[in-house]
Amino acid sequence: MRTKLVAGNWKMNPTSMEGAALVEAFIKQIENLWDLDVVVCPPYLAIPRVRELLKNTQVKVGAQDCFWQESGAFTGKVSARMLHEFCCDYCIVGHSETRGRFGSTDLTKSTLGYFAETDETVNLKIKSLLYYSINPILCVGETADERAAGKTDEVVAKQLKGALKGVDGAEMYSMVVAYEPVWAIGTGDVCGAGEAERVCAVIRATIGDITDDDVADSVRILYGGSVKPDNSRELFAQPNIDGGLVGGASLDADGFARIVLSA
Ligand code: PEP
Repeated sequence: MRTKLVAGNWKMNPTSMEGAALVEAFIKQIENLWDLDVVVCPPYLAIPRVRELLKNTQVKVGAQDCFWQESGAFTGKVSARMLHEFCCDYCIVGHSETRGRFGSTDLTKSTLGYFAETDETVNLKIKSLLYYSINPILCVGETADERAAGKTDEVVAKQLKGALKGVDGAEMYSMVVAYEPVWAIGTGDVCGAGEAERVCAVIRATIGDITDDDVADSVRILYGGSVKPDNSRELFAQPNIDGGLVGGASLDADGFARIVLSA
């Protein structure tokens, strides 16, 4: 039996003070809810304060990205080792925003190279997170063009195989995979529950091909992309969807609490 998980990705939004206010408003609404996992992923600088506030609660803290080297001349980067020092339990990797493929953005094409994540860098990040016992939340998903070309299953399978290359079967139990169709992220254009379930089943079968059925049955697969309080219940009720990765709606304490309670 897989425990449901709902994770909030705050992206580059709340400051440390705003993040503290957000968790204080949110935590009151989910007290005594111990039978599911809840994670918030603040910007790096908000992690220490949020972590302190959530210390004696059931809510875990995650980061939104990391760098795979432990230390060195990598200006602006934060390593898994540093996240470990702040007791981060989870870390998002391979988000479509760090892969440089935005669902909707006001950035120009020429600036996107800055985010140029590849399956290889995702793989290196996963290995460094697992080394520090931080659960990776691996994002996979197709763009609108790839969907229109009928390539959804092929794209997610390729991303999974690239990201999980050389990851030990036993370590795979701590992985979380989020199916995040790029066209659904931040657009309000949520994937229908039936189609999200179909792709999540493909993801589970692909994990089974890479490892074995036991691992595939245990790994939690989330859906992400315009999850809101009014669509989360149906999505999370699907047999292969074990919760959600929530962006915009996780910035509203009441709305995020409603999404968590729906799981
Ligand atoms: C995300 O960025 O991971 C995400 C799912 O965003 P939103 O919920 O805003 O679509």
